Amino acid sequence: MPDKLLSWKEAAMGGVVTRPGSSADYHTGTWRSTRPVHDDEQCVHCLTCWVYCPDSAIIVQDGRWTAFDYDHCKGCGICAEVCPVNIKQPHAVTGEMGHVIQMIPETEAE
Ligand code: SF4
Ligand code: SF4
Repeated sequence: MPDKLLSWKEAAMGGVVTRPGSSADYHTGTWRSTRPVHDDEQCVHCLTCWVYCPDSAIIVQDGRWTAFDYDHCKGCGICAEVCPVNIKQPHAVTGEMGHVIQMIPETEAE
């Protein structure tokens, strides 16, 4: 959650962005109803998910998939759709076959 929620009276007229770079201040992850989960052992670090994520919510360090930024991930599921790897073992989180990234209901998240 942002540190301070604005009332409509405090919001900029027309929702105009008055300060560049302020999008990171808004924790849009609170909108999420489904959450991506990742199988670290079966990821090949191709970074296709990073390329397609519309919210820059996949964190990469040293050229390797590292984490989801759950403060800003909206749970759109695009990363799970574009991941090209069909896993060989049941998913570490869901226990299902499919891709390295899979979606679960937010209510089932830890
Ligand atoms: S669910 Fe959507 S917003 Fe979240 S990490 Fe995947 S592509 Fe990005
Ligand atoms: S697209 Fe799949 S295999 Fe590639 S980095 Fe993302 S999670 Fe890993």
